[in-house]
Amino acid sequence: MKELYSVIGYPIGHSLSPHMQNAVLNHHSIDGYYHAFEIAPEKVEEGIKGLKALNIKGFNVTIPYKVKVMDFLDEIDELAREIGAVNTVVNENGRYVGYNTDGDGYLQSLLTFLERPSLQDQSVLILGAGGAARALLFTIAAKGQANCIDIANRTLSKAQELITSCPIDNEGTVLSITEAEENLGRYDIIINTTAVGMSPNVEESPLSLQHVKKGATVSDIIYNPLETKLLREAKERGALAHTGIGMFVMQGALAFEKWTGVQPDVKVMEDVVLRHLQKK
Ligand code: NAP
Repeated sequence: MKELYSVIGYPIGHSLSPHMQNAVLNHHSIDGYYHAFEIAPEKVEEGIKGLKALNIKGFNVTIPYKVKVMDFLDEIDELAREIGAVNTVVNENGRYVGYNTDGDGYLQSLLTFLERPSLQDQSVLILGAGGAARALLFTIAAKGQANCIDIANRTLSKAQELITSCPIDNEGTVLSITEAEENLGRYDIIINTTAVGMSPNVEESPLSLQHVKKGATVSDIIYNPLETKLLREAKERGALAHTGIGMFVMQGALAFEKWTGVQPDVKVMEDVVLRHLQKK
């Protein structure tokens, strides 16, 4: 009998996860099926209970349920608990365990892009202080070995709260967007985690790269469009451009491995996502 996997969210019609995960299940000849379930906010508890009743092998969780889902799980992995959000649930002998693969997926994608084993000696600036910034900051602080990780955000108090709540002290400071623009030359890696520049607002950019260092890396976790205005400007100014598709693929690959025990072919996953993005 086919094993069932899924992603839950609201809305969920836009999700590329079913295309990506079904392609890689087929590629590895695993008899499973991955389905997107849209669950309305007032039905979220019933929805998750329903998935458990079906003995689902695993599911992803996307907006707006990454925090809420934690109320309905049997166990939560330490990093996911610290981040305060779960994007991957695994059926471990009938117990549903929550993980967060967003931060690890991002870090693996960035290190692969940079062809480096770690971020040692690198100064990092994260733009944004929302859920994605939290996953990236906590993971990079725990595993990235960066020199420092500073945060710039439109709302300074949220950046301050984020840096204070990070369980690992990374000697980072908080900047306004203007301060970040003026001091951009200090950073080796600049990561946009805000939604600014995402389709349909493709002509927006979260900050000016006028002072970016040549050879620095500008990374955008947005993958629709694949090349944001920020990344176009980065290339024009002699910086390297790292797109958000790698994070999306790797967070899914890490989830797949937890569910099936198989290390997936990430090229197969990336090709499917690229094909669907190019059709949009
Ligand atoms: P979130 O929790 O809502 O946080 C949004 C952040 O963006 C906040 O820091 C917010 O600043 C800032 N922001 C929003 N609109 C802004 C504007 N007009 N000007 C300046 N700053 C603005 O969202 P999230 O869950 O972190 O997701 C953020 C982005 O990451 C989305 O585009 C999402 O698609 C993307 N993402 C990608 C992946 C992937 O796999 N590649 C995974 C997860 C998320 P304030 O604090 O001032 O409001």
